[in-house]
Amino acid sequence: MLIETQCTETRTRLRGLLESQGRRFHEVEHPNQTYFVVPGQAAAPQVEGAFRVHAMESPFPLASRELRPERSVISVNGFHFGPGHFPVIAGPCSVESEEQILRTAEAIRAAGGQFLRGGAFKPRTSPYEFQGLGEEGLQLLAKAREETGLPVVTEVLAEGDVCLVAAYADVLQVGARNMQNYALLKALGRAGRPVLLKRGLSATFKEFLLAAEYVMAHGNPDVILCERGIRTFEQHTRNTCDIAAVPALQEMTHLPVILDPSHATGRRSLVAPLARAAAAVGADGLLVECHPKPEEAWSDGAQSLTLEEFRGMMEALEPLVALRESFAVKA
Ligand code: PEP
Ligand code: MN
Repeated sequence: MLIETQCTETRTRLRGLLESQGRRFHEVEHPNQTYFVVPGQAAAPQVEGAFRVHAMESPFPLASRELRPERSVISVNGFHFGPGHFPVIAGPCSVESEEQILRTAEAIRAAGGQFLRGGAFKPRTSPYEFQGLGEEGLQLLAKAREETGLPVVTEVLAEGDVCLVAAYADVLQVGARNMQNYALLKALGRAGRPVLLKRGLSATFKEFLLAAEYVMAHGNPDVILCERGIRTFEQHTRNTCDIAAVPALQEMTHLPVILDPSHATGRRSLVAPLARAAAAVGADGLLVECHPKPEEAWSDGAQSLTLEEFRGMMEALEPLVALRESFAVKA
């Protein structure tokens, strides 16, 4: 059962009642709304006040479309994720230098991209690979934002870095390898920034949505889901792009669902075709890696588009983005 209220007095009464009944419950405070998530079925609380009771059994009540039949719109600096919008987040895998990030950001803006991405803290499979520039990378991203106006999306690797990264970033990315880092997810509930949550390498939809639920249950309603490919037996592509995840998740949750065709394939030549597939399948946006010189990139060069290829991808997407409203999962 889930109870929602906007009234402070009702909230106090509801809490008192649940406590007096000895019920286990989780109180969630979102801007303008308080929720009591009460596991299992129970009789509606008998207290005075303005509240709504949802007799739900979803394991992820806050993220589910049962609670919010309308699909949510998440707004960041005047850009929107959700029905009617198709924002493109682009940039290098890693921030490497001022010249690299500024040149990339300018090309993204000129091509019509809305967000700049770039890793300052990198989750690398090998401890001997480049781990990111850290705070210096964040400063370079902030500088690129100043010059271009593009809001910044960047990954936070560890719970202890949330405040630092939130001081620079507009959206906090949780990488695939951290999707089930519950201490990090809880801290992001209190970060005061929208979260871009990537699907774990072998996560089911349910596990993915439960990870989003962690962030929401700890106070943050703004979670954007990102399908980035899953591990299968196929070796030709880095991962297997689960395109069905987009409409499937949109049926299960009101949260926006975007696609990352770069990590989903690991191959530059496959990024634009899958970006078109994302628009056609009704995704709520894209995350794409691009680099001024992919062959010299410090990470993920093989899947990074050149800046010219990025412009070409954006041009080819235009007619599909215009069409997508007719077949995207409805609000
Ligand atoms: C990235 O976005 O550069 C990244 C590390 O992605 P993922 O967590 O999906 O592997
Ligand atoms: Mn990458």
